[in-house]
Amino acid sequence: MSRLLLRNFRERPDVAVSASGLRIRSADGREVIDGSGGAAVACLGHAHPVVLEAIRKQIETVCYVHTGFYVGEPVEALAEQLVGHEPGGLTHAYFVSSGSEGVEAALKLARQYALETGQPRREHVIGRRQSYHGNTLGALGAGGNQVRRPPYAPILPGASSHVSPCYPYREQRTDEDAAAYVQRLANELEAEFQRVGPDRVMAFIAEPVVGATLGCQPALPGYFRAVREICDRHGALLILDEVMCGLGRTGTLHAWEQEGVAPDIQVIAKGLGGGYQPIGGILVAGRIIAAIEAGSGLHRHGHTYAAHPVACAAALAVQQVIRDENLVEQVAIRGRQLEQALKRRLGQHPHVGDIRGRGLFWAMELVEDRETKRPFAPGIGMNGRVKLATFARGLACYPVGGTIDGVRGDHVLLAPPYIATEAD
Ligand code: PLP
Repeated sequence: MSRLLLRNFRERPDVAVSASGLRIRSADGREVIDGSGGAAVACLGHAHPVVLEAIRKQIETVCYVHTGFYVGEPVEALAEQLVGHEPGGLTHAYFVSSGSEGVEAALKLARQYALETGQPRREHVIGRRQSYHGNTLGALGAGGNQVRRPPYAPILPGASSHVSPCYPYREQRTDEDAAAYVQRLANELEAEFQRVGPDRVMAFIAEPVVGATLGCQPALPGYFRAVREICDRHGALLILDEVMCGLGRTGTLHAWEQEGVAPDIQVIAKGLGGGYQPIGGILVAGRIIAAIEAGSGLHRHGHTYAAHPVACAAALAVQQVIRDENLVEQVAIRGRQLEQALKRRLGQHPHVGDIRGRGLFWAMELVEDRETKRPFAPGIGMNGRVKLATFARGLACYPVGGTIDGVRGDHVLLAPPYIATEAD
């Protein structure tokens, strides 16, 4: 009997014994193609020599220091790499160990910004239904995930509420065009600000391309510009969660670049360290830092492993490889090939309702009836079945969404490493 607890008490995954490039091998000698980089994490694939060498060097020099005493050498360099060129006015970076911790840091910084600018009433976060921003309590509270949230609802901290996501496949009405749908969503957000009280809203949080809950769903053109305008008009911060869709995954370094807006705080994680080390972080607009610097000068938040030197060394190497090997451009090219292949091979499949995504971030929405878009009945777990079936044939893909109470949409997600070749 194993004494190890994993998320599913009844299932025991294979033991992985080696991995390189896009391939993972298990103890029984089976090899699979890592078609989703785990959960859209392994952006450089496995065992990239440049990253391994950077980790080895850092462990041999300084394997750990606490930020109360020291900062490791690669930490400053990583911040410089990410925000040194002030993309969209984001001028500072803070590093933690996961996406959830990044979301917590973002929420706390937003609250602190409100306090330090004399707006103590701002404490409410508006998120979106069918969203996921992490599993820690604060992040679960900001998210609108109908599966992971309910059991813990009584112990979730903070005031939050949720508006509709931009989900044209299911929620754009037949009598409205894209612009009218975007306007309807903007009106709903505006109404939610008015309901809560505009001077009580601290931040709006959303993923530019929704990964796990809506299956690689980009917003329609103009949606984020409308959101940005509403946040600005009411003095609320815009937090963009690019934990899954960021750092090259969608074919631009930041997914928000394709929306014509920049966030006040951006959360990053998976593609930051590519799975070589656990690391997440936030990128923050200069005006927020300036306000806090002029006030308390403190971010009242910290973790033992914040700015971990080995994690930052790994992330720095990952980001340098992405830049040096022009991998963001590669993602755009490979992504078009993946899109074409998926649409050609599966676009007409009777149980594939929609194929959507950007860059190397694609999902299929599985439906029982393609014509009516009727989802599979609750309990069938079609996304999980497809995962098992493809795994048995040598491809790891990531099942997300699910047809469960209040949630419609089984999705299977593909997020191959940026180094994937056309043959892969
Ligand atoms: N935000 C988004 C959009 C995510 O997809 C995830 C994880 O899947 C998280 C936050 C949480 O990140 P982590 O699992 O690293 O805590």
